[in-house]
Amino acid sequence: MDRELLKDVAIIGLGNMGLGMAKNLLAKGITVSGFDLSETATVAASKAGVKILPAAQLIAEARILILSLPKAEHVLACSEEIEVWGKKGLVVIDTSTSTPTVTREIYQRLLEREMLFVDAPVSGGPQGALNGTMTMVVGADKWLFEALLPLLEMMSSTQVNVGKAGAGNIVKICNNLLIAAHLITTAEALSLAAKAGVEPEAFFAGINKGSGRSAASEVNFPLWILNGQYHSGFTMGLMRKDVGLAQSLMAELEMELPLSQEVMALWEQSRTLLADHADFNEIVKQSDSELYG
Ligand code: NAD
Repeated sequence: MDRELLKDVAIIGLGNMGLGMAKNLLAKGITVSGFDLSETATVAASKAGVKILPAAQLIAEARILILSLPKAEHVLACSEEIEVWGKKGLVVIDTSTSTPTVTREIYQRLLEREMLFVDAPVSGGPQGALNGTMTMVVGADKWLFEALLPLLEMMSSTQVNVGKAGAGNIVKICNNLLIAAHLITTAEALSLAAKAGVEPEAFFAGINKGSGRSAASEVNFPLWILNGQYHSGFTMGLMRKDVGLAQSLMAELEMELPLSQEVMALWEQSRTLLADHADFNEIVKQSDSELYG
């Protein structure tokens, strides 16, 4: 793939993550055009230097198109537009957390039209998108992954090619199932320690040097929970979606995973306490409303 192609990208979905990605690429000298259904999002992106175009024109002119959309259904809707307007040779990099089945279906349909589709879901939050320090788990053939690397390296500090189309979303769904569990188990462990007389700071000083540590104990609690700010930029609605994706994958594969099922039930139950727009870290309030309230 001609490296020059990587210097001009289009982005559909300029929300918390997409706008950060756009700003990061612009700061690195990449030309960025974009589209979003929300006027608030396009106004903010335009101010940042993104050339806003109507969806059809954006897709028709793009050689590299990044998607950052909420759910698989939005990615699917967008892929229908891409089928109509996309040119042969277009490479679509889907950074949304979506489903492997939808990814594979789109991959196949676009391949028949000589376009390529890569699932590259991300972690690292809006700050990681803005700083280019996300982690990407990429579902793509090796040659394509390598061809895209110069661009992926501008967007993220870690890129792992975990298999072919769909594999990125499988790994991302499993990753988010784990953080969904770790937030709850860490909150419960802290409740136990607090009731037994240990201060939260001392608890984490010990845990984070021990084998019970995780991103929840090392990042989420200090940055977004213990200070009461709950401002990670990742919503309860999106996290419940990801836990639901794990549940669907499990059902599709006819698997029973008792602890995961309990975690899924707890996230589902949180609907009565926490709105979709709440920060996903607020799940800890369900475990202990006194400690985290
Ligand atoms: P967001 O809701 O802030 O942004 C999504 C944007 O997509 C919105 O601006 C919306 O208007 C736009 N949109 C929806 N449908 C569209 C369509 N058909 N055409 C054009 N625009 C459309 O969501 P986000 O937090 O930026 O998350 C995006 C994706 O990244 C999700 O799949 C999420 O699970 C994943 N993700 C988010 C985070 C995070 O911390 N926010 C971290 C990792 C992964």
